[in-house]
Amino acid sequence: MESMAKLRLMSDYSDVEQDGMPPMTVCGADSTVRTRLDPDQIKSSHHWEVFHAQMGGGKTIPLLKTMLSSSCVNDCNYCVFRSQRDFQRLSFSPDEMAAAFMQLVRKGFVQGLFLSSGITGSGVKSQDRLIDTVEIVRKKYHFGGYIHLKILPGAEQAQIERAMQLSNRVSINLEAPNPERLRFLAPRKDFSGNLLPRIAWMDSIRSAMVPAGGYKGDPSLTTQLVMGAAGENDIEMLTVSELLYSRYHLARVYYSRFNPGVNTPLENLPPAPFIRMVRLYQASFLLRDYGFSMEEMPFMQDGFLPTGIDPKVAWAKDNLSEVPVELNLADREGLLRIPGIGLVGAQKIIAARREKKLTDLKQLTALGISPKRAAPFVLLNGNRPAVQLELPI
Ligand code: SF4
Repeated sequence: MESMAKLRLMSDYSDVEQDGMPPMTVCGADSTVRTRLDPDQIKSSHHWEVFHAQMGGGKTIPLLKTMLSSSCVNDCNYCVFRSQRDFQRLSFSPDEMAAAFMQLVRKGFVQGLFLSSGITGSGVKSQDRLIDTVEIVRKKYHFGGYIHLKILPGAEQAQIERAMQLSNRVSINLEAPNPERLRFLAPRKDFSGNLLPRIAWMDSIRSAMVPAGGYKGDPSLTTQLVMGAAGENDIEMLTVSELLYSRYHLARVYYSRFNPGVNTPLENLPPAPFIRMVRLYQASFLLRDYGFSMEEMPFMQDGFLPTGIDPKVAWAKDNLSEVPVELNLADREGLLRIPGIGLVGAQKIIAARREKKLTDLKQLTALGISPKRAAPFVLLNGNRPAVQLELPI
C-alpha cells in the first residue's frame, strides 16, 4: 500500500469518535489539538489529520502524529490497538515513515513529528525502529524541526539516551497513578519495575546531557495518565503528578480523558467528564508552578476535587477571605496565592509597585490582570477594594 494511503488509514483507526472525543489509543499522548486538513489544501486523494502542538509562548506548530505500527503484542484494556481486537494492522518501515513525513514537510502541511508505535516483537525491537526512523529524518533528510518520540515499555537505557539525543521531547506513558490502577488498565504493564524506572532514567540522562545539550538543547520529558477508567480519584492522580514534577522534573503530566473504544473490555464504561480534567490540570499547575502542596488542595472526602470551583479559588476562599493579601507588600509566593494572579502577573505587580503604590483595581487592569478574580482576596494600600466583586469559579 502506498505510504500516504497508509498514513490516512492509520488516522482512521483512531478516529472513531464518541462524545466528541477520540477513543483511547495508546502510546500516544494528548498534548495536541487536532484538526482535519482542508481537502482543497491537500490537493491529493488522501487526507489525514494534523495535530497542533503547543511550543510555549502561545506558539503552535502543525504536527504529524502517527504510529510506526498499529500491531501490538499487548492487551491494554482501554486501547483500540490491543492485540485481541480484530482489524487490519499496518506497519511502516523506518525508511518509509521518514520519507512520508518529509513529503508532508516539503508540501508545508506539517512542521514536526510525534511518533509512537505499538509493540511488535519486543519493546526493544520496536524502540529500535522508532529510533531508526528519527535517525533517518535527522541524518538523511537533515530535518531540524520538532520531534517528540515515544519511549516504549521495555526500552533499554542506551536506547532512551539515543532517543533523547535526537528528539526535542520524549515521553513514556505511565498510564495510571499507581500499580493497582495500572493492573486494571493494562495487566501486562509493570508500573514499579518497568515504567517508573524508565522515567528515572530519562531524568538522569537529561541531567547528564544538560551541560553538552541534547538535540537543540535540553529535551523535555512528559508522561500521560489515563483519567477516569480505573476508578482512581484525584488524590491518586495528583500524588503521582507531584512526584513526577518534584523528583523527575517532568515538563508536563498529561491527563488523557478516558473515552471507551469499541470492542475493548472497557467499552461500556462512561467517558470521563471534561470538567474533571480541567480541575486536575489547574491543581497540577498549582503544585508544579505555584508552591502549593498536596495538603493544601481542596479535596473532598471522596478524594476528588470539587468540579464547581477552581481549586485555587477554593483555597483562597478558605484562607484569604478573612486575611486578604496586601498587594504592595506581599512577596512573589504570596502574590501567586491570589486567584487571577499568575507567574507573569506577580512579576508585573512587583515591578509596578516599585514605581508607584497600588491603590486602585484599575492599576491591575493596566497591568493586564483581571481584577475580577483577585479583588475578594486583596488589600490595596491597607484597604479592601471598594467594589466587592462576585467570587469567581
Ligand atoms: S502497549 Fe497497550 S496502549 Fe500501547 S499500543 Fe499496545 S495495547 Fe495500546
